[in-house]
Amino acid sequence: MTDSGARKEQLAANLAKVEERIAKACAAAGRSRGDVTLIAVTKTYPASDVRLLSSLGVEQVGENRDQEAGPKAAACADLPLTWHFIGQLQTNKAKSVARYASYVHSVDRARLAAPLGAAAVREGREIGALVQVALDAEGDPAAHAGRGGAHPDEVPELVDRIAATEGLRLAGLMTVAPLAGRYAGDARAAFARLAELASLVRAAHPAATMVSAGMSGDLEEAIAAGATHVRIGSAILGTRSPLG
Ligand SMILES: *Cc1c(COP(=O)(O)O)cnc(C)c1O
Repeated sequence: MTDSGARKEQLAANLAKVEERIAKACAAAGRSRGDVTLIAVTKTYPASDVRLLSSLGVEQVGENRDQEAGPKAAACADLPLTWHFIGQLQTNKAKSVARYASYVHSVDRARLAAPLGAAAVREGREIGALVQVALDAEGDPAAHAGRGGAHPDEVPELVDRIAATEGLRLAGLMTVAPLAGRYAGDARAAFARLAELASLVRAAHPAATMVSAGMSGDLEEAIAAGATHVRIGSAILGTRSPLG
């Protein structure tokens, strides 16, 4: 078998395992499998892997660094893929990200909305924008490790700002299970809190239905709490180096 054939088999087997976990978690939560979308997080892995995943039916891919995602998206421009940008976003990268990203999960400050919206308009697209919520900051701002994310108290104002920005469509909320603060070690409670915040957002913005939560280690907890999008990297592609 070719190297590419072996890699494809490995990715197919990993995808099947992840699919089984998602299906089980949906069943356990009394949710329909169709309510949860799998985003394959391909960061640190080459465009050739994205191509193989596409051939295996993957349609949603996630990346966290523009320097890496831009060339990868360009190399895969012929494939039917939707790109989700999930990493911390510097304002000066908004223009580049708008070239390929249909969704940005990591809008965490009002200052980012205008440049990102303007870049989307220039590209002739509307970006689905999610507010990344830093739950490590709740009740203990000192615990916020600066990994990105808005304080929960800032969410109402930020979603209103996004909703009012041309080029952006308010899509929902995103979080990463916190390592510090009151939810440390309790992903289920963190995701339940995100779901609560998301339902408050929907009261004002009914179309903002995306709840992006859950990674390789905690997708079950996220689905139990109502996540609509899980972002899965290592369980599909393999373990990354510690710096990835
Ligand atoms: C890397 C990353 C993921 C995927 O993490 P895994 O543990 O590899 O599944 C999900 N979300 C964000 C924001 C990431 O940076």
